[in-house]
Amino acid sequence: MEKRFGTNTVLKDLNFSVARGERVTLIGPSGSGKTTILRLVMTLEELTGGYIYVDGQPLTYEDRAGRRVPVPKKQQKALRTRIGMVFQQFNLFPNMTVLENIIEAPIHVLGQSRKDAMSKAYSLLEQVGLPDKADAHPLSLSGGQQQRVAIARALAMDPEILLLDEVTSALDPEVVGDVLNILRDVADSTNVTMLIVTHEMGFARDVSHKVMMFDGGRVVEEGHPDQIFTSPTHARTQQFLSAVL
Ligand code: ADP
Repeated sequence: MEKRFGTNTVLKDLNFSVARGERVTLIGPSGSGKTTILRLVMTLEELTGGYIYVDGQPLTYEDRAGRRVPVPKKQQKALRTRIGMVFQQFNLFPNMTVLENIIEAPIHVLGQSRKDAMSKAYSLLEQVGLPDKADAHPLSLSGGQQQRVAIARALAMDPEILLLDEVTSALDPEVVGDVLNILRDVADSTNVTMLIVTHEMGFARDVSHKVMMFDGGRVVEEGHPDQIFTSPTHARTQQFLSAVL
């Protein structure tokens, strides 16, 4: 696949697959295209070349005139219900309570009853360590708490795929560990497929089945985390890891 923004080609000759239940971490310098991949999978950006398939379904197709077009909105929406995404900046709805943030999509998109959605939301709030914050407004919470709500909100949809986009980068260092532990538990206790962009190399090493090192929109090296973190073969990976570890 390929992705251009105007004349800037940010992903080139990219070809990889992620198996069901696999956890893949994308590492590499800022601007190397990692976030763009997650946004493409979530259909928040459109591909400019090649294909992405989610569960066998392409996200774009060629119309009768041979033009590349995204699949219809309805199909994109259906696809998004199966994917949870957690962003660096939490992106909670500020005018809704924590509970409303979590139950909104299960009720309006999945058609769950309010009672079922609420019961699941309370158990997720328990799981992320915020059992008493259901009625709080997001902006009254700390960054770490907001991010835990965002994780609960993503999990409330029972996603098959979870996209984590630098979820701890905006947090104070002392709360990063708590958020990562919640995600470690999610990884341990579910079979959700995860695509992770992070600068937390310890976390990447613990949870990933595979690590892919990006540079300039290409994968320069990929492998098992033990190999990538202890004996990277590519000079660019060695250089990157020695700068961040
Ligand atoms: P990373 O996640 O590795 O830091 P990104 O995927 O965010 O990298 O960005 C890759 C490149 O794409 C960067 O050069 C960035 O400036 C560019 N880019 C990302 N989003 C947009 C956009 N919406 N419009 C134009 N350029 C973009």
